[in-house]
Amino acid sequence: MRAVVVTGPGQLSLEHLPDPAPDRDGVVVAVRSCGICGTDLHLVAGDLGSDRFPLVPGHEPWGEVVAVGAGVTGFAPGDLVAVDPSLHCGRCDPCRRGRGNMCTDWRAIGATEPGAWAEFTPAPAANLYRLPETFPFAVAPLAEPVACAVRGLERLAARPDEPVVIFGAGTMGMVLAVLLDLRGVGPVTLVDVNPARRALAARLTGATVCAPEEVAGLRAPWVIEATGNPAAFGQALACVARAGTLLVFGVASPTATAEVSPYRIYADELTIVGSMAILRSFPAAIDTIGRHPERLAPLVTDTFALERFDDALRTVSEGRSVKTVLSPAATP
Ligand SMILES: [Zn+2]
Ligand SMILES: [Zn+2]
Repeated sequence: MRAVVVTGPGQLSLEHLPDPAPDRDGVVVAVRSCGICGTDLHLVAGDLGSDRFPLVPGHEPWGEVVAVGAGVTGFAPGDLVAVDPSLHCGRCDPCRRGRGNMCTDWRAIGATEPGAWAEFTPAPAANLYRLPETFPFAVAPLAEPVACAVRGLERLAARPDEPVVIFGAGTMGMVLAVLLDLRGVGPVTLVDVNPARRALAARLTGATVCAPEEVAGLRAPWVIEATGNPAAFGQALACVARAGTLLVFGVASPTATAEVSPYRIYADELTIVGSMAILRSFPAAIDTIGRHPERLAPLVTDTFALERFDDALRTVSEGRSVKTVLSPAATP
């Protein structure tokens, strides 16, 4: 099969690899498409460590089951599925406490195991979510990002009809803005430094969109940091109203630090929560996409053939797209 392989930091090539075979409790999925996200850029650059290479990235796949292992029941070739990339050991302390995304042996398809920037990807049957015939397949690439956003909003636990400010109008900022609106939380204000992103976000999400200087002094009970930038974290924390909550959703560099005022957290009774990846949020994500495809479809902006992975990655790193996907069937 054709697959994009990362052999070292920033070193990618399209290679021919043997087709995968299913594990006993797993399947092989013929990838219809797989998204590229900010985490992938960190991964490919080697920011998350070089011990993972060589690796086929791609943790946002959907596609068709083409082979099933001997122990698999409930799935058969021809089934269309979205794949939850999370691999939790099920045995460690966090797993036993129902917090599998904190697994001490955390692994994921496309992050530590072979992923889906390829024609085929292996996956445990337990990670598959069936997409019904009536599913809006154009939006299927958003299943994984929406599942991450659903998890984040579970952590935020915002109340309906209260204002939310999101720092960062990237793909996830926009997905979060749409989901909040669908849940009746708002008004939603998206903040971004980039004028082109602001124009795109205003057109695609319906949220109010501002430059950072326009929200100086603004306070909101619910604030989301979705940039991963420590400077934006400071602005986001300053934006939280008394008794408010800050959700740290953006992926900062593991070595980045930011200044906080412990007094303010005490005196204003602030709540600061983090959200990492996905925890039992795939069913809600698929359900939400199925019920509101018209709100989410505009966020899938660019499709590239595997052969054009370079162009696809550049589109993502330059922030010109919302969700960019690689599709093995697309013509180069
Ligand atoms: Zn991702
Ligand atoms: Zn575990």
